[in-house]
Amino acid sequence: MLRNDQLDEWDRENFFHPSTHLAEFARGNVPNRVIKTGSGCHITDRDGVKLLDAFAGLYCVNVGYGRPEISDAIAEQAKELAYYHAYVGHGTEASITLAKMVLDRAPGNMSKVYFGLSGSDANETNVKLVWYYNNILGRPEKKKIISRWRGYHGSGLMTGSLTGLELFHKAFDLPLAQVIHTEAPYYYRRADVSMSEEAFVQHCVDELEALIEREGADTIGAFIGEPALGTGGLVPPPAGYWPAIQAVLKKHDILLIADEVVTGFGRLGSMFGSFHYGIEPDLITIAKGLTSAYAPLSGTIVSDKMWKVLEEGTDKLGPIGHGWTYSAHPIGAAAGVANLELIDKLNLVENAGTVGAYFKNALNEAVGAHANVGEVRGEGLLCAVEFVQDRDKRAFFDASEKVGARVASALLEEGVIARAMPQGDIIGFAPPFCMTQAEADEVAGKLGKAVKSVLG
Ligand code: PLP
Repeated sequence: MLRNDQLDEWDRENFFHPSTHLAEFARGNVPNRVIKTGSGCHITDRDGVKLLDAFAGLYCVNVGYGRPEISDAIAEQAKELAYYHAYVGHGTEASITLAKMVLDRAPGNMSKVYFGLSGSDANETNVKLVWYYNNILGRPEKKKIISRWRGYHGSGLMTGSLTGLELFHKAFDLPLAQVIHTEAPYYYRRADVSMSEEAFVQHCVDELEALIEREGADTIGAFIGEPALGTGGLVPPPAGYWPAIQAVLKKHDILLIADEVVTGFGRLGSMFGSFHYGIEPDLITIAKGLTSAYAPLSGTIVSDKMWKVLEEGTDKLGPIGHGWTYSAHPIGAAAGVANLELIDKLNLVENAGTVGAYFKNALNEAVGAHANVGEVRGEGLLCAVEFVQDRDKRAFFDASEKVGARVASALLEEGVIARAMPQGDIIGFAPPFCMTQAEADEVAGKLGKAVKSVLG
């Protein structure tokens, strides 16, 4: 507090903000915002401005802000033992308990959990495990990873390559050669408007088959996908998409990585997106919702099928050459245990489903009929509104008009945080699971006003 008068200056002079226009920020054209406290669905900045956070930070504060159950667990763990590593069979009560709790909630064919720190590093782990697995099985060529355009899997070297958004590749020399991309299951943006949903699913399957044919199935190790596209536009898949894609992968002996960083632990109204869409993954990526972001923690859930081969590998090669200083960090693990307990106690997965359905309906009522709203979509508490210049012709606005960003700014003026998604004029909503129907109505009503102020 005492230093508040210097914070703005220090911020612009010292702080490299991620995902920020660096030059505009330095010039003072991007506002800085210093957040001080949070409670439930709200955050409050240092000037006392209270905002309804309808994106739960970066869709991660799933239980809502200010939960003493989790901060107390963190404090207790920090006092008792702030750190010990997990190498060579070491662990803590928290990390061992959390592994058991995760597996109790995961699909039945899953065997073990490896803990990391971020969604990005968990996906790096996944790729390494796929490579290791195929080397141990004597298939050293079977290494490429198929991802989807508009998929989001992180912003490291490999994970930034898996991410199918141009912004994350441009001038970073990505994607790396081992990553190849296929069609996004984005029905609204299908090239041929006359295509039925069923025909579009078949089109996605055909594209995948053609890619596998071109590259050779014996060069492809895995396919990675979010159950519902997140950062690429918040798009639930068309009906039948996952079973159809899985059949292709099985046929070609290609592993499936379900990236559940956003969907894991309840966002769609099911504990995992894999349950929601009938996905049977070989690896599952978890992060955000594992601790509701009260502490950094991620994980890779490994299936029985892969685990057997990993064990075989260490019999041949010695201890697995993978691990970080902070793997299974006790403070993160303690936060995870308290978070998963709270999700159960408050019935938050069910709430995400019921309030999510109510919220989508409210968004539809507020803006669904507007001439520039192309689609209101969502599943559970993962919803989006996509804007178009002409709804009948499904003509998109020119990106330079920044319609999505302008609507998000107008909504912020109303006291609600939503996210202008990075590609397309799409406003995303992914609030904490404790959102009430009254808060859902408030967000929808304020969106109606914001849309009117920007688009008339
Ligand atoms: N995977 C998905 C589906 C994500 O949405 C994200 C982040 O938004 C990541 C991976 C990367 O996680 P992190 O930002 O923690 O590295």
